Formats: sequence, structure tokens, C-alpha cells
Amino acid sequence: MRASQIMLRCPRCETELVVPRDDWDPQDAVSVLIVCLRCDDGDFHAPRFVNADGAEVPAIDTQERT
Ligand SMILES: [Zn+2]
Repeated sequence: MRASQIMLRCPRCETELVVPRDDWDPQDAVSVLIVCLRCDDGDFHAPRFVNADGAEVPAIDTQERT
């Protein structure tokens, strides 16, 4: 996994997927906990960023939510 990539992990089925980083991914984050499409039950799931130590990293606020 390169520094330009980030790991997506589904907290429900443990599926992992390495994807290119987005600009809004926090620099410290090495993985993102996000419910995958298969496990999505229609609820709103906010992604949670995790650093190399396993600690949660706050997401960067890039825009005001309305
Ligand atoms: Zn899943």
C-alpha cells in the first residue's frame, strides 16, 4: 500500500479495499471505517478515519453541511 492510498474497511463484514486517497482524507489516516454497499441498510453512515495507532482521526471539514 502506497502513501497515496488508503484502506477502506467495512466494520460489519470486515471487507477491505485499498483505494487512492481523496483530498479530504486526513493526512494521518491509514484506513477508513465505512459500511460497504452490501451491508448498507439505508441508514446514514459517516466514515470514520483511523490512524496507524488505531486511534480515530477527525475528518476534515471541507464544506458546511446544510
Ligand atoms: Zn460490509
